[in-house]
Amino acid sequence: MNAIIVLVEPEAQGASEVSRETLTFARDLAARAGGAPVHAVVAGPAPDEAALLAHLGEQGVATVHRAVDDRLSAYAAAAWAAAVVDAAHSASAGIVLAAGTPRGNEILAHVATRLDVAMAANVVEVDGVDPLVVTRQVVGGSALEEMRLDDAVAVLSVAGHACDPVPVESPSHPEVTTYSPTLTDTDLVARVARTEEAAADESAALTSARVVVGAGRGAGSADGFKDLLELTDLLGGALGVSRVVTSLGWRPHHEQVGQTGSRIAPDVYIACGISGAIQHWAGCQSAKTILAINTDPDAPMVTKAHYAVIGDLHEIVPAVNEELRARLG
Ligand SMILES: Cc1cc2nc3c(=O)[nH]c(=O)nc-3n(C[C@H](O)[C@H](O)[C@H](O)COP(=O)(O)OP(=O)(O)OC[C@H]3O[C@@H](n4cnc5c(N)ncnc54)[C@H](O)[C@@H]3O)c2cc1C
Repeated sequence: MNAIIVLVEPEAQGASEVSRETLTFARDLAARAGGAPVHAVVAGPAPDEAALLAHLGEQGVATVHRAVDDRLSAYAAAAWAAAVVDAAHSASAGIVLAAGTPRGNEILAHVATRLDVAMAANVVEVDGVDPLVVTRQVVGGSALEEMRLDDAVAVLSVAGHACDPVPVESPSHPEVTTYSPTLTDTDLVARVARTEEAAADESAALTSARVVVGAGRGAGSADGFKDLLELTDLLGGALGVSRVVTSLGWRPHHEQVGQTGSRIAPDVYIACGISGAIQHWAGCQSAKTILAINTDPDAPMVTKAHYAVIGDLHEIVPAVNEELRARLG
């Protein structure tokens, strides 16, 4: 039985949680595929090699392929992919996996190109092993797609939290094989040149708010948010906006809700002047109650909302604010 090899992303103390989830996913897949061995490949720096090895043992890894080359010390997707491909060849791997992180997906895209095979990103479930059929998230997690992987080597990333990281009953003692991957200058053209401390997470108030007032193009201009901000304040909530609003520079990006913004799950989402495009819906669909305020009765946000008020938000929101002010004293 061909091995299954997992690209593992190290963190300060061991393997990242999503990498451990992916190893558990790989183990289940290996069991269904007749007991294939699970290998791990580590390409970049690992702050704590001993903790990393312990995590890999807890996940029942048989062999660790440890790429060693100073040029891998900074992240370079193509170079790390070269290391994964070399390890996959030496393990005679039939399946290559990584966690569906930005790096995992980027590296596997390079791996699939080098192996000239298809890649399934963000897999949540294996439906069958012969042939390999998987279910994966698409459209920012709004839809599921079934995909059949017929190539000699299957390349797939596993969506975060598709399963829990479950340790094996008796940890293994993985054999560690160090190797120097074959790297070319072009593999190193795009690489991390410097890193900076991340700024404080300014979207925390938005993602934890119980009430979110949403504002879209219907706000009209950067000056059109006064009443919306007052409504947000009266309700003790947070303001969330559509991408049009951030692209036009009306509000900062950390307020954006959607596929390329924050995912929110408040008790109430009041979407004002937002059409409800699929990319916005991906970020707000988990709200328990959605109220849309929109001039268009056929806007997707209106048809999907629990409640809707059809009309101009510049008339409705001030009226709501007035009523709230009166009730709140
Ligand atoms: C790869 C990709 C990623 C994306 N990611 C995101 C994302 O994360 N978040 C996101 O929001 N979008 C995202 N988008 C953009 C998305 O497709 C839409 O273009 C965007 O959500 C539309 O914003 P909007 O609803 O504010 O504007 P519009 O679609 O222009 O809708 C404006 C709405 O306001 C209503 N309206 C106008 N005037 C008033 C008024 N006075 N009173 C009441 N209603 C009024 C209109 O009837 C309309 O329904 C993404 C797109 C792509 C391609």
